[in-house]
Amino acid sequence: MKYVEYGRTGKRVSVIGFGGMRFDQDRPDEQNADLVRYACRQGINYFDTAPGYGRSEDIFGVAFKDMPGAYYVSTKAMPTSYDTAGAARDAVHKSLDRMGIDKIDFFHVWCLRKMAHYELAVRPGGMYEGLCACRDEGLIEHIVFSSHQPGGEIRDIVDSGRFEGVLLGVNLLNFPYRWEGVEAAHAAGLGVVAMNPLGGGAIPQHDGDLARLAREGETTTETALRFIVGAPQITVALVGFTDPEHVDFACRIADAAAPFDEADLRRTRDRLDANMNELCTGCGYCEGCPKNIPVPAYMQWYNDKLISAKSDEEMVKSVEGQHDWGLLVGRQADADACIECRQCEEACTQHLPIIERLKEIAAWEKAAKGE
Ligand code: SF4
Ligand code: SF4
Repeated sequence: MKYVEYGRTGKRVSVIGFGGMRFDQDRPDEQNADLVRYACRQGINYFDTAPGYGRSEDIFGVAFKDMPGAYYVSTKAMPTSYDTAGAARDAVHKSLDRMGIDKIDFFHVWCLRKMAHYELAVRPGGMYEGLCACRDEGLIEHIVFSSHQPGGEIRDIVDSGRFEGVLLGVNLLNFPYRWEGVEAAHAAGLGVVAMNPLGGGAIPQHDGDLARLAREGETTTETALRFIVGAPQITVALVGFTDPEHVDFACRIADAAAPFDEADLRRTRDRLDANMNELCTGCGYCEGCPKNIPVPAYMQWYNDKLISAKSDEEMVKSVEGQHDWGLLVGRQADADACIECRQCEEACTQHLPIIERLKEIAAWEKAAKGE
């Protein structure tokens, strides 16, 4: 296992982190805890959980009683749920109690989906203030944040200087959408943890369809993991495991990972551009819609349909998640606000039929609302 320093914290973390979101929750906690201990024996030392991941914190608590090596704990609380300094303190204590530990190494201001969430967290008397007090008392060590925002907003939060690290969704397919934030965080000396390195399973499920993005001699999945592990801007790749074989696979990739440098990034962007014309690359050239429709975000979501060959029914089912948690949080207008001015289509580097796609999307959004 390779280890790198998490930002400027002085902590050396494994480049593969254990994402505690995907336990098989039908199994007994002890069995899941065995998987945690197995990962620790394989060299993983960064364990990420959250109070909202089912029994995840409890499972880690069972494992932590008997871990076979040194480890770091990461958990989270949402500013929308814990919006005062006192409430933040309660959140920290709840997580400490659930996991049976005395200190949390990385505590995330969780799930910033728009700037209003960040502003709520850092207002006087708000969550951030409470977390600073907890840090002063030694209950937590590093205050970090997790974000589902576009790269420019992540950059603004990084520039505030309040945080030591960031957790965000970035992978081989969507990295242009958030890369500005990744680079800003890296340049500012923050740790960068990537969640969803395999596009929520879309990459392994469509490995062959995406073969153009794979390096020679590798599957697309292997290239996607190498990208996350080998890009110097990314500190830890969080991977969810349900079986020891998954741990072994991720560790093998990490051990073999060659650096993923600027030339690799450029080549991947070019391949997204040149060979996958039907996919939005998240380049952002189409921004500035007069009706405030977040065109890049909508087109990134539409990628799901193309990559995963999703049916209309499946897309309708995913509307709520995209609106509340995904690419479309904080949007100022829905797809049906389009007035077909063609400004975005004229700017689109991929010559995508944006208006046509927005009409399809508007129908999914309508169906999801039961209209
Ligand atoms: S065509 Fe529609 S989405 Fe595109 S810029 Fe005009 S109003 Fe916005
Ligand atoms: S210009 Fe085209 S490829 Fe670029 S973000 Fe907009 S829709 Fe996607």
